[in-house]
Amino acid sequence: MDMTPSADLSFGNMRKRQTVNWFYSGSGVLLVCAWVYFGWGGVTGSTGEPAVAPVASAGAVKVSHEPARLPIHMDGQLTEPAWNKARKEAGFVYPWSKRTPPATEFRALVDSERLWFAFDVEDADVVMAEEFSGELSLDLEDRVEIFFARDAALDRYFCIEIDPLGRVHDYAGRSYRKFDDNWNCAGLRAAGRISTRGYTVEASIPLESLSELLGRRISPGASLRVGLFRAEFGKGALGNADDNWMSRVKPNTASPDFHVPSAFADWRLPDAEPAGSEVFRTRGVVLVPEDLSATDWPKRAARAGLTTIALHHSTSTENVASFIESPRGQQFLRECARLGLHVEYELHAMRDLLPRDLFDRHPEWFRMDEQGKRVPDANLCVTSKPALEIVATNAVRLARRLPPTTSRYFFWGDDGLPWCRCPGCREFSDSDQALLLENRIVGELRKLDPGAELAHLAYANTLAPPAKVKPAPGVFLEFAPIYRRYDVPYARQTGPEAKDALSALDANLAVFPRATAQALEYWLDVSRFSKWKRPATELPWDERVLVDDAETYAKMGIRHVTTFAVWIDADYLERFGEPVAIRQYGAALRRNR
Ligand SMILES: [Zn+2]
Repeated sequence: MDMTPSADLSFGNMRKRQTVNWFYSGSGVLLVCAWVYFGWGGVTGSTGEPAVAPVASAGAVKVSHEPARLPIHMDGQLTEPAWNKARKEAGFVYPWSKRTPPATEFRALVDSERLWFAFDVEDADVVMAEEFSGELSLDLEDRVEIFFARDAALDRYFCIEIDPLGRVHDYAGRSYRKFDDNWNCAGLRAAGRISTRGYTVEASIPLESLSELLGRRISPGASLRVGLFRAEFGKGALGNADDNWMSRVKPNTASPDFHVPSAFADWRLPDAEPAGSEVFRTRGVVLVPEDLSATDWPKRAARAGLTTIALHHSTSTENVASFIESPRGQQFLRECARLGLHVEYELHAMRDLLPRDLFDRHPEWFRMDEQGKRVPDANLCVTSKPALEIVATNAVRLARRLPPTTSRYFFWGDDGLPWCRCPGCREFSDSDQALLLENRIVGELRKLDPGAELAHLAYANTLAPPAKVKPAPGVFLEFAPIYRRYDVPYARQTGPEAKDALSALDANLAVFPRATAQALEYWLDVSRFSKWKRPATELPWDERVLVDDAETYAKMGIRHVTTFAVWIDADYLERFGEPVAIRQYGAALRRNR
């Protein structure tokens, strides 16, 4: 921390103005003492468990109204159609200055998991810290601010300040002006973008986090006590000048101060966007990045009435992550956002989550084969604590690089490969071992994203349900019957010769929740029908099979359906034209209740 007290005072930023004695020593070193005063444990919930027990009505809201999850991509741009429908608050004023205020608009949306909010800010000269050295650098920057009060007197309140690039300074407060910078808002996501007319900031907070902060269950429509502010600096005019501070309401103070009860106002959370009346809430395709050589895939998916594109790769998580981070990947995300499509990532991930080069030094972290030898060929030893630790940590790292818009994560075992046969693991089936690991990973993911859900892939060697391990909250079933037939309706594949029969789905639904379960199908998987050999063959297609299968899944209570559509790429479209199957797939799944 290189911000000295003198810098703080000369810039006189509003937040720190009266806290110098409290936070700074004579040498200008930030004293990290706040936790002594703010030892209210459980605010950020390190276990991932809600501090507030859900009440029956909140649970009922979730189930009976099934609010949507909004397909918003956190990129600082308000291009998603949902933002046009957001509740808008304008009318920000200069409470302490006669200057004409530049336009500031706050927008808010709520879905089943999160409060989404945005600021659209007009600003002729965006002021940014010349050297950004951590969250306190925001004190030197133009920024937008939202404060949430637990009580009217501000005995506890929580402040989130976001700069034009989406960088966050979050801290907890107690009246009067006692700040805890160590506090971080669990699951907060934010992004910002500077434009020619100013900047836009986009952010979201899990309702679970708001519930913990405010000490009561926060559902869509709940009434909150909120402050909405903006620091509007001019170049060379940082600090406490009266015309540097804007607010949605006029605080009752003579000089600028947002840390007073009168800076807050009652504000009702918007109602959740209801999900469509369609039976299938997720109607997706799973592609590999190479398939996006057909650059119009998002349009094709939207035209077919699909909700979701998931990106996949059979062996490399890096393949997908580096694509998403490339200009083409960013363009793909923007296009999906514009069209209101969710984006997810379905990855065989274990060889990347426990890097194979660790084997030389730590063979005991890796699986034991049937012959009693440790081998780095697949998966890991799930009763090895350090191995679990590394996988969980790397899963969170990967989740940060590839955040799904649905909070549904897919970090699968290595493709169809066996798990561990060591004395500790041997008693657990491959399905049990996968679930042991998933239970651990979902706990870590929920520290990052309290609404996180993680797939348990029932497929090939994990098709049978786990027998000894129960799913932790947030683990959902993903059922992928790769060996079934596609020339006969699935429901009719019941004889002794049937492979991956529906009875396996039934058996899994006795272990996993039905409402979140997902079918991962192969109806459109050109790579499968080509036996994974190029050149691709034309998709064999019988719409009647698909329609019958959709009916079957609907009757079983499945609400999330995706299909591989791998190898429907530019080359395929050129050779075979536009497959009617995609439109028919969308139509068959778009059935109403
Ligand atoms: Zn083992």
